[in-house]
Amino acid sequence: MPKISEIKASSIITKSNLPKTDYVINPYVGCMHHCFYCYARFMKRFTEHEEGWGEFVDVKINASELVPKKSEKYKGKTILLSSVTDAYQPIERKYEITRKILEKLIPLETDLEILTKSDLVLRDIDLIKKFKSCRVGITIATLDEDLRRKIEPFASPVQNRIRALEKLKENEIETYVFLGPILPCLTDWKKIILSTRHATDYYMFENLNASRSLWLPIKIWLKDHRPNLLKEYEKIYFTPNDYWKNTEKEIADFCKTERVKYEIFFHHGK
Ligand code: SF4
Repeated sequence: MPKISEIKASSIITKSNLPKTDYVINPYVGCMHHCFYCYARFMKRFTEHEEGWGEFVDVKINASELVPKKSEKYKGKTILLSSVTDAYQPIERKYEITRKILEKLIPLETDLEILTKSDLVLRDIDLIKKFKSCRVGITIATLDEDLRRKIEPFASPVQNRIRALEKLKENEIETYVFLGPILPCLTDWKKIILSTRHATDYYMFENLNASRSLWLPIKIWLKDHRPNLLKEYEKIYFTPNDYWKNTEKEIADFCKTERVKYEIFFHHGK
């Protein structure tokens, strides 16, 4: 169990530089899902924690009080929960920080976007339905539950995520599958599309980012769980090649053939 601390934040709605996102809200610092590839681990340097990333969570206990009761500023603006944590990680069950934030956002008439790896989002369907404009994305990087336990040990099982998509659709909430990160030789993205297309409106694709400090945890994970793939990953990430360019084209061709809507957000840096 990670170390849980309650903290008081000084602000909660932050301007975003993500595509198609005006603001982000991160109700927690840290994340219990413990994904080995986590891109948000840089956040640790803004804390005083000695624990490693994934081993602490700071709960922004006053988060909902920081959302204004009245404001025209956020009307129609896209607010994403969340960018560097998961708003529905297990501790949310106890604290309900995300739920309280949603209650405060409804009267502001924001365009709500939620992205999560947890079926706990279903708890808040009653509130999500009150937003005139909203969508919920569920991240899926594999359908193989054994592999899921190794890559995202404390996030929801894959079948629960698919059921969450179905339930959201039943409630007429727009959904998307965030298909990523695509792990070379491990993510069967075609199978994911074919298994989820009945419950999603579109797909977003992201490849595994192994740049700079992100490479070390990936290398350690590969050595522990898939040592046979280490050489292949080094080839993909550290030698000139068209692996991701070709994958991008394959995805585009497949989605066009299958008539599914998609957007690709690939990192091409080293
Ligand atoms: S759910 Fe997102 S923020 Fe949480 S550990 Fe996984 S990648 Fe990081």
